[in-house]
Amino acid sequence: MLKRAASRYPLPGQAAKAKAKAQPVSADSTPSDALPGPSTLKEAFAWPADMVKAVCSDPERLRRLKQLTEKSWQVSSDYSGLRTEEVCFQALNQEIGKQLGLELKHSFLYSCACDATCRSLVLGTTGSRKPQHCFKDLNGWLTAEAEMELDGIESMMPKLTKEMTPAERESAETKRAAAYDEMGAWLFKNYSTALRKKNYCLEHMGSCELESGSGSESHGPDHASLAVAGLTCVGWSIMGKHEGFGHNSMRPFFIWCCHQREQKPWILVVESALRFPRPSLEKYLGDMYHLVFFEHSGPVLHGWPVGRPRMYCLGFLRSKLTSVGSQEEYNKVLSRTLQLSGDVFFFLDEDDQEVMNEKFMLALRRCVQFSAAQNLPWEILYPGAKQQIIEEHKKLFHQMCPQPPAYICDLDQNVGFMSAGPVWPCLVRHGTIYSLNKEEACNCPRALRHPRLSCP
Ligand SMILES: [Zn+2]
Repeated sequence: MLKRAASRYPLPGQAAKAKAKAQPVSADSTPSDALPGPSTLKEAFAWPADMVKAVCSDPERLRRLKQLTEKSWQVSSDYSGLRTEEVCFQALNQEIGKQLGLELKHSFLYSCACDATCRSLVLGTTGSRKPQHCFKDLNGWLTAEAEMELDGIESMMPKLTKEMTPAERESAETKRAAAYDEMGAWLFKNYSTALRKKNYCLEHMGSCELESGSGSESHGPDHASLAVAGLTCVGWSIMGKHEGFGHNSMRPFFIWCCHQREQKPWILVVESALRFPRPSLEKYLGDMYHLVFFEHSGPVLHGWPVGRPRMYCLGFLRSKLTSVGSQEEYNKVLSRTLQLSGDVFFFLDEDDQEVMNEKFMLALRRCVQFSAAQNLPWEILYPGAKQQIIEEHKKLFHQMCPQPPAYICDLDQNVGFMSAGPVWPCLVRHGTIYSLNKEEACNCPRALRHPRLSCP
């Protein structure tokens, strides 16, 4: 059994003592007495049934869940990404219907994403699953005067350049962080006049209005509201330049905080990188919301072989709700041991058209005839640099003791920079994800072709 496999094996970055910024995918928070996780992809996709059953197994939790179904929920989403929150909401609701004969009545008020692909996904959604409004940018909530003020602060910041010495860079980063701190303080002091009630909406091709406080007050006692935000993690990621408070994503973060203060949704569900500074959320929202932080080892906590350690923060509007849960309780009820490895995502056959096309393209670049390439291992067809990376990973894999049941790495990254091991590194759109066992690369679109991965 692959129980807690992710935490048992050293990462190549550590073994190689490379200048690694990666950190291990940790399953440490999985309690040792957790129930066994899924052992097939089919079982993995039965997670909503498992989650609802687990919550309902306790009479007090069941009573609280039933109470939630007495309200009509208004859901909004900032930093919307690929709409996973909406998919989860639907999947859980379907199971609540099956198991309890109840429904979480809900409507989607808006989504907001600056990424064009994510917005296309929202605009292409149909029926009740489509949010009422589709906003493009958090900056759109600013009045012209506030935008000018914030632009002014940003224009005074030193720019970071590749030519800088480490000392110059450190000094510039400190100045940038101080300037963003000033911006946050200004916005926090003036948000009631700095934010507009309207933002440009792509669904209605014009400015659409949200009433202030619409999350908490204007819809009557039978209504409740939930706001979801996958806050930017770029400045706080284990990857990238580690710009932290000096990263330009601080500006939309402040605007988001102030917009939540105006809208007052009952519950906030926020996720970001593990290193995201929790005091920032406390500073801008703590007086209005009771904030509960969760360190989440990612999908591995629920038995999914995907690494994505995250920080979650739940916010409860103090005037409406009290939180009685804890991370310990969450882990006790919902965590599952890891029994699958990331190899489970390499499920397409060699004669699958998409696999053949990819191999054909590799062969073409290497000037190898496809008829000959068909029977050659993938690694021979990769460019020299990628072959070298595979060789280095093989060496690290053979040094591991015990050897993990799977070894999955990203051939677009130098050894030691990205974590490699028994789970899929992360559901990223880029990267050449390679399995040493399967001797094959796979990317996210291919992994997502599995019929069980379609929306429920
Ligand atoms: Zn609209």
